[in-house]
Amino acid sequence: MSSDETVHGEAVAANRLIERCPVGCQSDLVETSIVLPEGPLRRCSLCWQLVSQITAQDFAASMQEFNTPRGTLPTQRTQRRHDVRAARLCKTLSALIRAKSGGARLLDIGCSSGALLGSAKRHGFEVEGVEPAAQAAEHARSTGLTVFHGYLQDACYPAASFDAVTLMEVIEHLPDPQALLKEAWRILKPNGVLVVGTGNGASWTVRLVGAGWGYLHVAQHGGHISFFNPDSLRSLATQCGFSVERIETRRVSLADKQQAGRAVYGVLKVVAELMALPARWCGKGHDMLVFLRKAPA
Ligand SMILES: [Zn+2]
Repeated sequence: MSSDETVHGEAVAANRLIERCPVGCQSDLVETSIVLPEGPLRRCSLCWQLVSQITAQDFAASMQEFNTPRGTLPTQRTQRRHDVRAARLCKTLSALIRAKSGGARLLDIGCSSGALLGSAKRHGFEVEGVEPAAQAAEHARSTGLTVFHGYLQDACYPAASFDAVTLMEVIEHLPDPQALLKEAWRILKPNGVLVVGTGNGASWTVRLVGAGWGYLHVAQHGGHISFFNPDSLRSLATQCGFSVERIETRRVSLADKQQAGRAVYGVLKVVAELMALPARWCGKGHDMLVFLRKAPA
């Protein structure tokens, strides 16, 4: 290693945002062969959680992409996929909380401009949201949704307020997810359900393409710093008072459209589609959806 690399390595080590396993393991973080611009991803030697070596400053800068009026609203191209997935989510949630028609209360944490809230409302839920990005929260409010602008802990909802809480594409942004999950537990009614949607760090996609998976890069997905797998999420959930109802994973990706040539991308896309079903059966898909229940005290 050159002296420059050593100096760079020490500088990164001194300012890293995450210095211990976010799941709470008292275990070492060891470097992996998945090399990102901010340094190799590190892995908890106990639960295999993957964490970024990003600095607090670069993390904060990468989160700015969410502070727009559009937030994470689906585009024309992704609208149909959003609608299908939201409908499936609402159906599963309704079954799990045994919602009677009308009136189950749902809170979406990190609701952005309100895409999921709008869908859940159309499926009969009474909805509220929490969103720290000012412009996205304002947009959601302008469509008539009730949204708290800020962080969940500052919203001070009364205990046992909600039948369902959703946390979609949020947990991978958190250096300390325990505090958020404990607050979600507090505001859920007994037997209420928390849904966590995030990437799967133990997926075939990560195994096969490593740093080639765009999800791992803050340049493509601002704020992505902590990558769960079914076991690490189960461990975190249990520590925070939840029981695991079900864990689903789906999708495999073998190439990035921008990086691979058109022909190569086309072939790899077909192979990835063939692998999608077995990946689902084996819990190795890269999109993970986890349903957790607040175990009665
Ligand atoms: Zn761990």
